[in-house]
Amino acid sequence: MMLDYKTLVISLGVSALCLLLTLFGTWFARRGDGFLLSWVIGMAFLVPGIFSYSYYTESPSGALGALCFVLVLIGFAIIYAAAFQFRTGRSPVPHVMSIAPPAVLMTAPFMLIGYDGIGFVALNIFSAFMLFGTAAEYAKARRESPGALTGMAILYGATGLSFVLCALVLIHEGQWVLGHAPTNWAEDINTGLSIAGMTGVGALSLMVHQGRITARHRREAMTDALTGLNNRRALFERHERDTFSHEMAVIVFDIDRFKTVNDQYGHAAGDRVICALADELKDAVGVSTAARLGGEEFAAVLMTAAPGYAEWLAERIRRNFAERDMQAAGLSFRVTVSAGIAYGLAAGRNFDGMLSAADSALYEAKRNGRNRTMVAAPDASPPVATRTTA
Ligand code: GH3
Ligand code: MG
Ligand code: MG
Repeated sequence: MMLDYKTLVISLGVSALCLLLTLFGTWFARRGDGFLLSWVIGMAFLVPGIFSYSYYTESPSGALGALCFVLVLIGFAIIYAAAFQFRTGRSPVPHVMSIAPPAVLMTAPFMLIGYDGIGFVALNIFSAFMLFGTAAEYAKARRESPGALTGMAILYGATGLSFVLCALVLIHEGQWVLGHAPTNWAEDINTGLSIAGMTGVGALSLMVHQGRITARHRREAMTDALTGLNNRRALFERHERDTFSHEMAVIVFDIDRFKTVNDQYGHAAGDRVICALADELKDAVGVSTAARLGGEEFAAVLMTAAPGYAEWLAERIRRNFAERDMQAAGLSFRVTVSAGIAYGLAAGRNFDGMLSAADSALYEAKRNGRNRTMVAAPDASPPVATRTTA
């Protein structure tokens, strides 16, 4: 037994409305990525479009048909733009503005002047075009979460194909003036596929949205808020299982007499000094290699360091930092930093061993008058057996 067409369209509208509400609630609770909100706004055009279409199937009129076209096409344009926003992080608005008006202008007028058959063909073609575009955006972005995004691309693509089928059947029948909603096997497939596709797309959109929130929290947990560098946790997570050969090195930095800086110029000026050293580290080794260990202490882990390279690098950072003019309360002042270096061992040395050897060297640098770089003796800590990295 077949459900009658109007019932099918109404169930499409109801499932779209439920999804709209669920996804809006999810977005509202966590205020994650904007693409989900854009998608919901697109659905907010589609849902009344679908309900007015179900009314049109019983009482067709040019004006009502045109209204359906406008709502559905704007809805699809926004959903397409939401996918573009997902992939690029850019605003969806220009996308909507360049797609929706031509789509509306090339379909709705046919409906109004009585060539509703041509109008439906155009509606189906534009809808398919926008759904294929949406599928392409998610397919291009699939590396972020391959399963969910490939699934979304397939669902959008399949729904787009069913719109192409609807257009082809109408063209084949050659009825340019219908006077009612088209009813044929392609329309049934299209409506059924739209229900399934929309539900699937809704669930998968939730998944990727959730994934983005989790990734953001993870990033935040690994990043030092003041300097934007990796924090101690990130540094340990990355390196605690590494074995350091003699071609690798760790440099630790500690700002000299930093308590005095805070006392004389205030905590905010102290923070700026910390950021200034962080900037020198970013310039010298890049954000991924440098980390703030805590307070005014930093580390750089060099996974390839020819003999003498770590000293050269640490000295460059120390000198550039010492030459910076810091400002606070109309005063200009300079601050220095000390560095300690540990190289790995041919037999291998673990990360803890590297850090404590570098720390001893740093302590020596402080003891010898600060504003200098010291290198740990190779035997400062007992070598460890080489382990493979997990
Ligand atoms: P030394 O040359 O021996 O390193 O002397 P120091 O004064 O730098 O001594 P120490 O390293 O023990 O001082 C650390 C100070 O750093 C203590 C604390 O008040 C300050 N500090 C730690 N975290 C922050 C921060 O986030 N901002 C600011 N402004 N100060 C901080
Ligand atoms: Mg310190
Ligand atoms: Mg210090």
